[in-house]
Amino acid sequence: MKEIAMTRFLDAGDVAALVRETGVASAIAQIAHHVRQDFLRWDAFEKSARLASHSPGGVIELMPASDGVHYAFKYVNGHPRNALAAMPTVMAFGVLAEVASGFPLLLADLTLATALRTAATSALAAQAMARPGATVMALIGNGAQAEFQALAFHAMLGIREIRAYDIDPAATARLARNLAAVPGLQVVPAESARAALDGAGIVSTVTADKTRATILTPEMVAPGVHINAVGGDCPGKTELHADILRAARIVVEYAPQTRVEGEIQQLPADWPVTELWEVLAGRAPGRGGADEVTVFDSVGFALEDYAALRWLHAAAHARHRGSHVELVATPPDPRDLYGWMMAAAAPPQPARAMEAEPA
Ligand code: NAD
Repeated sequence: MKEIAMTRFLDAGDVAALVRETGVASAIAQIAHHVRQDFLRWDAFEKSARLASHSPGGVIELMPASDGVHYAFKYVNGHPRNALAAMPTVMAFGVLAEVASGFPLLLADLTLATALRTAATSALAAQAMARPGATVMALIGNGAQAEFQALAFHAMLGIREIRAYDIDPAATARLARNLAAVPGLQVVPAESARAALDGAGIVSTVTADKTRATILTPEMVAPGVHINAVGGDCPGKTELHADILRAARIVVEYAPQTRVEGEIQQLPADWPVTELWEVLAGRAPGRGGADEVTVFDSVGFALEDYAALRWLHAAAHARHRGSHVELVATPPDPRDLYGWMMAAAAPPQPARAMEAEPA
C-alpha cells in the first residue's frame, strides 16, 4: 500500500517551545549563522522583490526564494493600527518545499521567526558596520520586535545597556520587565529619542506607523554612530530624515526591493548603496572610518525567511517538535483524485514524514 506523504506542521506554540528550549539568544545566533551562509551563496538563489498588496490599514506580502533544491515562501502582514484591536502588527507563516517534487516539507508559524531573523540580520549587519566596542544601544520603538533586537545585540555585539524610548511608556516598561533577568544587560528608559541617543554607539529604530515619520534628525546622530533602521519597510513608511541618509554609508539587503520600501525610497533611484552579501563576503567595506555614520536600511528579505525556515526544519526534526499533517492530497493513484475523495470510508493508510533530510 502506498504511504501518505506528510508535512511537518509547527504552530505558534510549537515554534515558541522550540525557541525556549534552544534559548532565545542561542536561536538568534543559530539563525544568524544560517542567514550568513545563505547570503554568502547569493548567486545560487532565485531572488525577487516581495509581492505587496497595500490597503489603507497596512500591507500583506508574499516573499519567495529558491536555491533550486529548496523553495520557501513567507506570508506576512504589517498593520500598525492592529494594536488598537489587540492584534499584532506583524503576523507570518511560511512553507519550505523540495524543488525536485514540489512537495511541502514544512508549514510553520513565522511570526516569532520573523522577529528572530530580523534581529539576527540586524546584528550580522552591525557586526560588519558598527564601530567595534559599542556597549550602549538606543532602541526607539519598544513593541513586539524590541526584545529580540536587544537580545541579538547583547549576544552578538556585546551591548550591555539599552536606552529605550517609545511614545507609549507602557511598551518601554514591558521591555524593561521582560529583560530584567538577562545577566549583563540593563534597560534604561529614556525621556525622548534624543535622550536615548546620547552616548549610544548604535541606534535601532523599530517603530510602526504607516507614514513618513522622522524618528531621527541629523543633529541627533553623532559621528561614527551605526543606525539599524528596521521600522521603515513599506512605500510611504520611513523613520529617518533624508539628510542622515545623504551623509551616510548605506547597506541594504536586496537593492531592487529596498529602493521601493526602505529609507532610501527618499533618495534618487540611482543613489549608491551596498548590498549586505557584499559586505559579508568581504567584497565591500561595512564602514569607511571611525567618524562615518553607517545605516543598515533593513526591510526584511525572503532569503532571511528561507534561512529561518531551514533552521526551524532542522531544529524541529532534532527535537521532535510539531506534528505531521496531510497538508496536500497524495492519492494512492495520483491520477485518481476523485476516487480518493470518494473512498472516505477506506481504512487509513500508513503515513510517511517527508523530512528525513532537513534542509
Ligand atoms: P509593534 O506595533 O509591536 O511596535 C511598534 C512600537 O513603535 C509601538 O510600541 C509604538 O508605540 C512605537 N512607536 C510608534 N511610533 C513611534 C515614535 N514616533 N517614536 C517612538 N516609538 C514609536 O510593531 P513591531 O512588530 O515591533 O514592528 C515594528 C516595525 O518594524 C514595524 O513597522 C514593522 O513593519 C517593522 N518590521 C520590520 C522588519 C524588517 O525585516 N525590517 C521585520 C519585522 C517588523
